[in-house]
Amino acid sequence: MSRAAQEFLRSAAIKSADLTHRQVIRRNIDSYNTANERGRSRFLDWEAARLKCEQIKWEAVNNLDRYLLEFEQRVKDRGGHVFWAENSEEARNYIANLAAARGVKKVVKSKSMVSEEIHLSPALEKLGIKVVETDLGEYIVQLREETPYHIVTPAMHLNRTDIAKLFKEKLGDVDTDDPQQLVAAARRSLRRDFFSAEMGISGANFLVADAGMIALTTNEGNARLSTSIPRIHVVLSGIEKVIPHLHDLAVLWPVLATAGTGQPITCYSTLVGGPRQPGEADGPEEFHVVLVDNGRSELLANPEEREVLHCIRCGACINACPVFRTVGGHAYGTTYMGPIGSVLTPRLRGLPEFNHLSYASSLCGACSDVCPVRISLHHHLLHNRRDAVAESDRPFAERVAFRLWRWGMLGEHRFAFFGWMARLGMRVLKALHLDGTVFDPARPWNRNHAATVPPPKPFRALWGKSDGHN
Ligand code: SF4
Repeated sequence: MSRAAQEFLRSAAIKSADLTHRQVIRRNIDSYNTANERGRSRFLDWEAARLKCEQIKWEAVNNLDRYLLEFEQRVKDRGGHVFWAENSEEARNYIANLAAARGVKKVVKSKSMVSEEIHLSPALEKLGIKVVETDLGEYIVQLREETPYHIVTPAMHLNRTDIAKLFKEKLGDVDTDDPQQLVAAARRSLRRDFFSAEMGISGANFLVADAGMIALTTNEGNARLSTSIPRIHVVLSGIEKVIPHLHDLAVLWPVLATAGTGQPITCYSTLVGGPRQPGEADGPEEFHVVLVDNGRSELLANPEEREVLHCIRCGACINACPVFRTVGGHAYGTTYMGPIGSVLTPRLRGLPEFNHLSYASSLCGACSDVCPVRISLHHHLLHNRRDAVAESDRPFAERVAFRLWRWGMLGEHRFAFFGWMARLGMRVLKALHLDGTVFDPARPWNRNHAATVPPPKPFRALWGKSDGHN
């Protein structure tokens, strides 16, 4: 078992037994569900909107080279720079070298999961550069020296008492648990940072090819301040974020807002098109876009898995996942958590180390049902399991057992015979009082589940008796 798998199992066991933690998550997800349901009902036809978004992303991802080059050309035409980073190291080095060359001492960041993916902040801090997260949730987890708990709501695991305690300890002048006053305290502190930072780093919700612009959607206005006040703006984005046309935002923005938070549209929808142009009053002097591959091209080259790149990072699948609701976001130990993380991480960081995440799922399919771009997430989890098995050298006994199981399942009489054998075995164990003892073969299952009780009659017998009607 890989180290990451051991750590996941350890953290998941602790978190799933923490009832206070589960209560906070349940309450937050319940209020998300109410808002999301109301949001979907505002659409004349939510399913048609999902289908449209899927088509836009399909077109973009299946013609990624063309749209990315179009985007690059338009950014350059307006005086911006585009850097293609093959991996995390190249992306980090580009930004770190740029910051060092321009004498940057402070960076304000608006939310970017790619920056978490490439571990940008520690790299900049090593150079003595202060990095300040400006999204409120990110700001809170940064003060706690934690990673984001969720891709949309990074501080979902905390309640206002936790945050009041944190602010009192870290900001000093705050002694309240009133949410408005807590927000005001964060705002006061962040304002100073916006005006003193030399560099602003943002992610991109979309890279609009025909406009050569980045589209950002936030609720706090922090992205606008991060991208317009400092003299250098760096955009950090995965290559899959490109979309063909500006008018695609007419459906993508409201669908993302609805799936992400249940809002019809977020409070701030911003398009950034490059550095300040002659005659313009504000905006950065320099504009750099770092396009990060980091394993995405390999996904693109795999027709079966390519649709994973359609993801617009709304977080809906995470909220719908019963495993996430039980173990929480930090147990995954990865940048992307929940179903999309369990699909993406093994592909981006290696199946041998992260394949355990493919099993962090009940395969109920709730994630696929809610995904606004209709990614069949539970099927991709199955593909990951299949490919990991094919790549690894499974023990001889396991291979024989599964062949036998397959052979049994494919024949009606064999299936009935094995079922009869299993029930008989369970009864014998019970009669001999061996279940629950050291000889109990069902012990690994029973340790975490209610004890298995053999049914008096198999399902097939009951079905036959009822003529299949009930
Ligand atoms: S996979 Fe779908 S539901 Fe999950 S974050 Fe991506 S777009 Fe949202």
